[in-house]
Amino acid sequence: MTKIQAIRGMNDILPEHSPSWQYLESRFYQVVRQFGYREIRFPVLEQTQLFKRSIGEVTDIVEKEMYSFDDRNGDNLSLRPEGTAGCVRAANQHGLLYNQQQRLWYQGPMFRHERPQKGRYRQFHQFGVEAFGMAGPDIDAEIIAVSAALWQSLGLTDFVKLELNNIGSADDRKAFGSALTAYLEQHLDALDEDARRRMHTNPMRVLDSKNPAVQAVLSEAPSLKDFVNADSVIHFDRLLKLLGGLGIIYEINPRLVRGLDYYNNCVFEWTTNKLGAQGAVCGGGRYDGLVAQLGGKATVAAGFAIGIERLVLMLEELQLIPEQVKRPVDVYVLAVGAELSELSLQVAAAIRTACPSAGIVSHCGGGKYNSQVKRAFAAGARYAVVLEASAEGEPPGNAKLRILDDSGDTQAMAIEAIPAEIQKLLCEPSE
Ligand code: AMP
Repeated sequence: MTKIQAIRGMNDILPEHSPSWQYLESRFYQVVRQFGYREIRFPVLEQTQLFKRSIGEVTDIVEKEMYSFDDRNGDNLSLRPEGTAGCVRAANQHGLLYNQQQRLWYQGPMFRHERPQKGRYRQFHQFGVEAFGMAGPDIDAEIIAVSAALWQSLGLTDFVKLELNNIGSADDRKAFGSALTAYLEQHLDALDEDARRRMHTNPMRVLDSKNPAVQAVLSEAPSLKDFVNADSVIHFDRLLKLLGGLGIIYEINPRLVRGLDYYNNCVFEWTTNKLGAQGAVCGGGRYDGLVAQLGGKATVAAGFAIGIERLVLMLEELQLIPEQVKRPVDVYVLAVGAELSELSLQVAAAIRTACPSAGIVSHCGGGKYNSQVKRAFAAGARYAVVLEASAEGEPPGNAKLRILDDSGDTQAMAIEAIPAEIQKLLCEPSE
């Protein structure tokens, strides 16, 4: 029989890598807690209409990347390609936004039918934060500070760069879009098929073109900066000052527009040069119009999403995962002789009680002393507790504690003394 394989671009996260994920998750939880954000969970499946209305009809995501299908009732549903739309839908539906401020975070799988490569998958995972009901640039600065605090906590600060742009209001972009379309119409010969199509449907997306001929035309094109309204300029300048005050270094990138339609004013992206082509690790910005666009009472908002796979890749390649995080087993209890297996389970239980933060494996399946020791090494244990029968037919009188390194150091002690000894070696005194 042929083996069934996973879907292309959808990865299993194997035990070798899950400690890196858990480490990253625990650091993220700590940071969002430090900033007073609360978790929200919402479904991976939503009405397709939700994403069309929020992300935009003429975006790569909605045009070609969504996993959409009719379910058994004939409803058109999509696997979520990002988190903001679902978060806003849930917050609206449950009255979380009505005259309120909210600081929320989420995490989970997202789905986009992109061409898979390193750092780009069809099922990938994001952490996101969304802040609602705060109009000033201080909340923009705060969410950027949340991301910066995560890099700090992970030791990544020196490997990431913050890029910012002010894309103005929806009206500003409309006016800019018309000017851009008019300009591009005069240079049709130099445009490829994609650019010609987009210049009428979503002209700003032409700015993302990778085609050098199109980019050459764009170098003389009208600039979005000249269309941004005065209030947006003031908001953005104040944001830059706040970031300066927090010691957060940034670059202005006038080409940064982001691939989702709902953003306005400040947009940002954190990038790295450690991941090859897929260098964006976090993207976000303000989206003041989205809540109303999805049927809620007009509520200003800002947020970001972080690509978890890309961060895990970075942390592993830069060897920033602490050794103790990777160690699933601290103590391996081995017992030679079937009559000792009950005792082995009891000793392991007693050690777990004495030292709850440690990982304790009690050997199962019998076998000779040497093969059990090999398993203890293979499990990555630091200590082996060796239970031995004292004499033929007698109950075991003592145990040996062995440090699992090349020294082979062992220390004999009474079985009852083992849990306290392990506690001394592995657990903090307060535990
Ligand atoms: P976006 O929702 O497109 O703004 O993406 C936010 C972040 O999610 C990006 O900066 C990436 O780190 C990550 N990301 C987006 N698409 C993918 C993908 N197909 N595979 C892996 N990570 C992704």
